[in-house]
Amino acid sequence: MIDNSKEFSGVRCRVCGGGGNSHLCQTFNEHSQTRWLENYRCNDCGSVFVGNQIQDRELAEAYASLDEAAYYAEVADASAKKFSGAARELAGLAGFSADLLDIGGGDGAFLRALRAQGFSSLSMHEIPGSKIADTPGLLRRCYRDFDYATLPSSAFDVVTLMDVMEHVPDPGATLAAARRVLRPGGVLYLHTPVVTRLDRVMHAVQKLPALGAAGRTWQRARTSIFHLQNYTPRSLSLLMQRHGFEIVRLDCRNELSWPLERYVRVYLAEKKGLPKSLIPIVAFLLSPIARSGMNANKGVLIARARG
Ligand SMILES: [Zn+2]
Repeated sequence: MIDNSKEFSGVRCRVCGGGGNSHLCQTFNEHSQTRWLENYRCNDCGSVFVGNQIQDRELAEAYASLDEAAYYAEVADASAKKFSGAARELAGLAGFSADLLDIGGGDGAFLRALRAQGFSSLSMHEIPGSKIADTPGLLRRCYRDFDYATLPSSAFDVVTLMDVMEHVPDPGATLAAARRVLRPGGVLYLHTPVVTRLDRVMHAVQKLPALGAAGRTWQRARTSIFHLQNYTPRSLSLLMQRHGFEIVRLDCRNELSWPLERYVRVYLAEKKGLPKSLIPIVAFLLSPIARSGMNANKGVLIARARG
């Protein structure tokens, strides 16, 4: 029996470092040697996070177990719309000649959208071992390491973090690196999942004997070895202040990274045995709430590096 009620004072919030955290639930992890992930909500900043200590090597092994080509193919449509909108927004903020670094650039889809928009000086950072952009002539430079040490200081006008901050084991280290590599006044642009009203309902559901399993299935789709934390506007503001940024704009919008049917297939059919024939129907039934303001799941933040 999982005790969902007690306070775990020994765990630090991954986002703000706060020590007062409420245990939400355990979720199963099949991607690395840590079998059970302990999910918490920070009582200070409201972030929801995986409290287990996960080392870089274990993370790299988990990512290596994924079929990245299939993943990128499935998210391509949703990503294309998001990326072209972001590229247009950045053009207005920084101009096409800006030196831009995309941290966590992956297969390069966002960088190609930036190039299509007219940006000419594009670089990328990725962790070793992951698939990276291989479009000839796209990148000025590709940096690869775990700790950002290879990145030059004060060398970029724009740093982008598109759906990256939920993956990093130490958000503060990533933002400190972003601030270091930006020139004063440079633009930080990021998209990352945030805790929604629907999440908070599900946190309550996790504690109900009859519906707890449904709440835990929901949590498994929200935090995992890949998504180590979901932020809140408060925690993002705190991080910006702490790491030398001034927020220009921060809003939360409904933005599903996957088609809804993929969520249902992965979390209810593959993991919970829902008959595959029911996937379209369940996705249809979930659609109104998944696309509502209750599920404003993506934080979009624009900030400038303080001088
Ligand atoms: Zn916190």
